[in-house]
Amino acid sequence: MKVGFIGLGQMGAAMAANLVKAGNELTVYNRSPDKASPLLELGATAAKHIADACHGGVVMTMLADDHAAEAVAFGDHGIIASLPRGAMHISCSTISVDLSRRLADAHEKAGQRYVVATVFGRPEAAASAKLFVVAAGAPDAVDSSRELLETIGQRTFTMSSKPEAANLVKLSGNFLIATVIEALGEAMALVGRGGIDLHAYLELLTSSLFNAPVYKTYGGFIADRKFEPAAFAAPLGLKDIRLALAAAEELRVPLPMASLLRDRFITLLAQGGEKLDWSAIGQLAAKDAGEG
Ligand code: NAP
Repeated sequence: MKVGFIGLGQMGAAMAANLVKAGNELTVYNRSPDKASPLLELGATAAKHIADACHGGVVMTMLADDHAAEAVAFGDHGIIASLPRGAMHISCSTISVDLSRRLADAHEKAGQRYVVATVFGRPEAAASAKLFVVAAGAPDAVDSSRELLETIGQRTFTMSSKPEAANLVKLSGNFLIATVIEALGEAMALVGRGGIDLHAYLELLTSSLFNAPVYKTYGGFIADRKFEPAAFAAPLGLKDIRLALAAAEELRVPLPMASLLRDRFITLLAQGGEKLDWSAIGQLAAKDAGEG
């Protein structure tokens, strides 16, 4: 399949690599062009401009945030202006429900198809095509995108015919993960202060009632106090909590835990955590208790 791919950050580069390896004819664009080099070695073609990545039947995007997604889609010679009628935009970025709805409207007006396919899983899961994909959009469009989505992930969950529903689901999921990180941080600060070995404690948790990847992964980072290199950077974590709160405000759903998490992320950034993984909020409780 002829596919354009825009956004070759930690996630996008890994996803694009799997699409080339699966035999797709990939044209890649990134704002900083040097990040395309490893993909060119795999056989992808470099696009000089966003428009050059929009000539196949499909363009996929994996961009940092609303600012990036808006610039790439709505800018002069951006996706909306460049994608042919009938062609499809698959948006994988974690962006706001509001922007996603605006993208759906703009694509519809331009006669283009729009599918949202947000993903759960960190860069290592993206590299091994083990992402969990949350898809939404018109059923025929989601069906047409299925082969590509199955190439980047281990399972695709279709949530709704409204594309922005997949953004809401993704934001709710990241809110939930952040609550687990905060709660683990507090519980581990408590037992740590009580002189208990954190790895032994985590072994107990994850071998009994908390036997889930999210506890194993993030509990491990907190026990090891290892928050670098950032596979999912703290500013992106704050972005997702802000977007969850914005969606919740629009739907008139109070999320008191998200308000607390927003402040935890601001504390982390204020203390110089800009380059740390988002799981570094899990060390704040121990710091508050006077550790390190
Ligand atoms: P990243 O490594 O920081 O990559 C961000 C990408 O966005 C880069 O390609 C960057 O281009 C591009 N970008 C940023 N601002 C831009 C702008 N104004 N115009 C054009 N391009 C711009 O981030 P990531 O970890 O891959 O995350 C990408 C998306 O996936 C985010 O929405 C994130 O929330 C979501 N996500 C991340 C993870 C994870 O574990 N990392 C998991 C699931 C979902 P440059 O290279 O030029 O900076």
